[in-house]
Parts: sequence; structure tokens; C-alpha cells
Amino acid sequence: MAGQTPPWVEERLADELAAVRDLARAFFTKEVAPHEERFAKQGYPDRELYRKAGELGLLCASLPEEYGGGGGTFAHEAVIATEQVRAGAGSMSCGVHSGIVAPYIHAYGSERHKREWLPRMASGELMGSIAMSEPATGSDLQNITTKAIRDGDEYVITGVKTFISGGHNCDLVIIAAKTDPEQQAAGVSLIVAEVSDGTPGFQRGRILEKIGQKSADTTELFFDEMRVPASNLLGDVEGRGFVQLMQQLPQERLLAALVAVVVMELAVEQTTKYTKDRHAFGKPLFALQNTRFELAECATIARVSRVFLDDCIAKHLRGELDVATAAMAKYWLTDRQCEVVDRCLQLFGGYGYMIEYPIARMYTDSRVQKIYAGSNEIMKELVARSL
Ligand SMILES: Cc1cc2nc3c(=O)[nH]c(=O)nc-3n(C[C@H](O)[C@H](O)[C@H](O)COP(=O)(O)OP(=O)(O)OC[C@H]3O[C@@H](n4cnc5c(N)ncnc54)[C@H](O)[C@@H]3O)c2cc1C
Repeated sequence: MAGQTPPWVEERLADELAAVRDLARAFFTKEVAPHEERFAKQGYPDRELYRKAGELGLLCASLPEEYGGGGGTFAHEAVIATEQVRAGAGSMSCGVHSGIVAPYIHAYGSERHKREWLPRMASGELMGSIAMSEPATGSDLQNITTKAIRDGDEYVITGVKTFISGGHNCDLVIIAAKTDPEQQAAGVSLIVAEVSDGTPGFQRGRILEKIGQKSADTTELFFDEMRVPASNLLGDVEGRGFVQLMQQLPQERLLAALVAVVVMELAVEQTTKYTKDRHAFGKPLFALQNTRFELAECATIARVSRVFLDDCIAKHLRGELDVATAAMAKYWLTDRQCEVVDRCLQLFGGYGYMIEYPIARMYTDSRVQKIYAGSNEIMKELVARSL
């Protein structure tokens, strides 16, 4: 939504999405971006920002209104995520909260789950995280060791999760755990837990120090015989977690792909401006053939990427985005993101290496895109399986 209206914006929603875009732009630019440096120092965004975002209708915009959401579609989430990236306001885990956690509850939760948690997620009262990865396993989720053992009306959860986005601020977490530790994929279930610092058996670990995305909280979470009502299981029966993950991960990957394209577009815009302003050898850097060719190639990559992304979003809105295509988009677009940002950074010279320049932050922030939401190697596995 940088310039022209994307092709996946239906005409009947054009005005509504333009209003959402303006609201999101104002919020991320005025309320979040100016504090990113402070958030980077403390390692997390202020918790109250989620409430503000909720009040404005910027959380769970795609959830039905009856559950407190905005009654929108994935297009609404895409517009909000675009504005967050363009504002440089990456501290908040809105994509995880609205684009991943809430959809799991909406897709697999009982009516009680939806009424109990979704309106509070939409208002920002509850901030949601999802805990799949463990210290010993990330890609190989069938082999997680966190256990959820049934004891009467409760599950007793024990295990360690790591790299959890929003882990410092979260009040609700979807935990991937083995309800049957003897089984691999068939033993995995997803269980929702409301957590606070006083929850018995629950502890947040340290905020992990990352090479980028420093303003966003990423933490370990420890569960030591934490008791959760057995009714918090997502889905009617145990052992459905792996299938649920496989069904929902395409949307998570599409969000990563969207971020990749928006960052590429931003990098090309900012580098074009910079190289037109800065002079060397008596002329703007932009007049040098190498600069022109580099930017021409990066702009082309960004444009081709945008066309692929828009097609994937349109497919997803029609319910037709398959696992392999989502994997293609995630791996290919995040690879291109890292390439384009690196090439643009080079054109900034030494300033490109200074953290106060957005291109430097884009560089360090981009790297993880090839790792999380399923590493790009795993994405290629998924593509290959479809061939
Ligand atoms: C900033 C950040 C935020 C994150 N947020 C979350 C979150 O909110 N929730 C969550 O659950 N997790 C989160 N993660 C974890 C992330 O999803 C994992 O790091 C990722 O899935 C990779 O797992 P791993 O780190 O265990 O690496 P490993 O699985 O150990 O992989 C190491 C390397 O081996 C490669 N590899 C593994 N298996 C194969 C294979 N079969 N074929 C080829 N190559 C392979 C990988 O591609 C990778 O290059 C986050 C991670 C980061 C860094």
C-alpha cells in the first residue's frame, strides 16, 4: 500500500482499508516509532501500547465482530503490518498476536475459548504469544519434549521454550506440548494458558540479546508443572497440534513474506533518496553508473517480488494459498530481502554501517527473516515435497 492500491483490495473494501491504513500509519508513526530507541535499550515495547492499539481497532482486525474483532479479512492484517514496517515500529508483536495467535483460537477453539479470549485479545487486555521452539529443537517440531500430562481436569505442563516473540509482555500463550510423549507428530497438542508473573509453575526467562530487532522482546519461557484446565486444549481431541500448525503456518509465512517486500521497497526508496542527495567526485552518487545499475536491479527485484506477494495474498484471501506456495514466498522473498538490503546498504558507504541510519537497522533486522517462521531450508523441503 506504499503508492497505488494493491490488486487484492476489493473495491467494496477500498475506503475501509484506506481508513485502516491511515489509522495504522498515524499510530505506528506517532505512538510507537519515536520510542523504538528506548524500547531497544529496555528490550521490549511498553505493554500499554497493546491497549492503545486495541482501542484503535488495530488488533485482531480480521476477527469477526462478535468476538470483539474488526470484522475484516487478512487484507486488514496486511495493511496494518505494512504500515508497521514502513513506520519502523517493529517492537510490537502485532503480527504474532493478530495474525497467528488469534487465528489459532478462532480456527480451533471452542465457543467458550473464543468468547473468553478473543475479545480480550482484540482490546489489548491480553497479549498473545505462541511457544513452539525449544532449546533442543526448532525445525523438528515433532521432537519437542515439553509435556502436557492429563491429571483429572487439568494438564500439568513441564518444559522449556525459547525464542518466543512477545515473551516478556505476553499474558496468553499457545503452548505446543506432547500430550502423548511416546508419539512424535501424533503426540503434539496445542494448549492455551493465561500467564502472569504470579502463575505457579510459570517463569519468563531473560530477554534474549539479538543482533537485530532489538526493540522486540524475545524470551525463554519455563513451565514447571504448571497446571492448566484440560478444557484449554485447542480442538476436540488430543494429538491434533501438528496438523493445526501445518494448517496455520502458511499465514505466518505469508506475513514474513509481506514484511520482506515492504522492507525491500523501503530500502530502494531510501537509498534512491540518499544517493541523489550525497555527492562524490563532483556529482550525486546517483549519477554513477554503478549506483544506477544497482538501484535499477534492486527496484526490479522489489517489483517482481511485489507481484508474487500480491498474488499470494489474493490466493490466501480466496482460501487457495497452498503450503508449497506459501513456502516459496517465504523463502524466496526473505532471501531477496536480505540481498536487496545488503546491496542498498553498500550504497550508503560508512553511514550504512551506523545504527542511527534506518538502512543499518533494516540490515540487522532482516537477517532473522530467513530463520524464523520455518527456516528457508525447511521451506525448500516443503516446496520439494510438492513437486
Ligand atoms: C527473533 C526470533 C523470534 C522467534 N519467534 C518465535 C516464536 O514466537 N515462537 C516460536 O515457537 N519460535 C520462534 N522462533 C524460533 C524459530 O522459529 C526457530 O529458530 C526456527 O524454526 C529454527 O529452529 P532452530 O533455531 O532450532 O534451528 P535448527 O532447527 O536447529 O536448525 C539449524 C539449521 O539447520 C537447518 N535444518 C534443520 N532441519 C533441516 C532439514 N530437514 N533440512 C535442511 N536443513 C535443516 C535449519 O534450516 C538451520 O539452518 C523465533 C526465532 C527468532 C530468532
